[in-house]
Amino acid sequence: MILVDLHAHSGGISTCCRVGYERIIDDAKETGIGGIVLTNHYVSNYVIDDDYDAFARAYLEEYAKAKAYGDSVGVKVFFGVEVTAEWDKNVHLLAYGVPHSFVTDHPRMCLYSLEELYRTVHAYGGILVQAHPYRVQPRLQDLAYLDGVEISCHPHLRYCGSFASEMKEIAEANRKLLTCGGDYHADVAYRPQCGVFVPKEISGDKELADWLMAQDRLTLRVHEPGGDWQDLVYQKT
Ligand SMILES: [Zn+2]
Ligand SMILES: [Zn+2]
Repeated sequence: MILVDLHAHSGGISTCCRVGYERIIDDAKETGIGGIVLTNHYVSNYVIDDDYDAFARAYLEEYAKAKAYGDSVGVKVFFGVEVTAEWDKNVHLLAYGVPHSFVTDHPRMCLYSLEELYRTVHAYGGILVQAHPYRVQPRLQDLAYLDGVEISCHPHLRYCGSFASEMKEIAEANRKLLTCGGDYHADVAYRPQCGVFVPKEISGDKELADWLMAQDRLTLRVHEPGGDWQDLVYQKT
């Protein structure tokens, strides 16, 4: 098994991220993380002159460069998307297991409603997980249109913690997927050691999403902001 951090950014698209994909991938490797899902921000604010098609193309180019670099240093780089909801810019939704055509076919996905986004992601064979639902204050969305919730190990203390036990309770009570990611932007004192343990043979984006959904039991590594990491076993009941 390898540890895969299901939530990471790179500066070429996510302008809030201080470094390029090389540093992001090198830092992951040094921390003992075998793979990341590159989930750059997909948000209307990043679109220049209303040219959503150009943004979609740039978004995929950044991923392609990161993937090539990851391959060269032995870190798996999976494809994902962190969509910022237009109705509340603090609501972030992670799409996993979608093909690249999902982005070019739906360049305005950040303007969709939750239900539209969920249905579109599913039409492409992917899944939708709410990122950091309790960051600062609870903003959990309608679970009818979510496949899972995320434990966020972003090291900023102002985000008030990972909310690991709350997320586990929500996932268990609703039979949803529980994920874990570091949301690493290289703007903090350390690179969190976190993610989900997955078989090292997994190499495809959809393969990863399908595997996560199919498991009754997952081992997550949670790195509490400002604290230590520990493994958490999630059993879908
Ligand atoms: Zn986010
Ligand atoms: Zn993020």
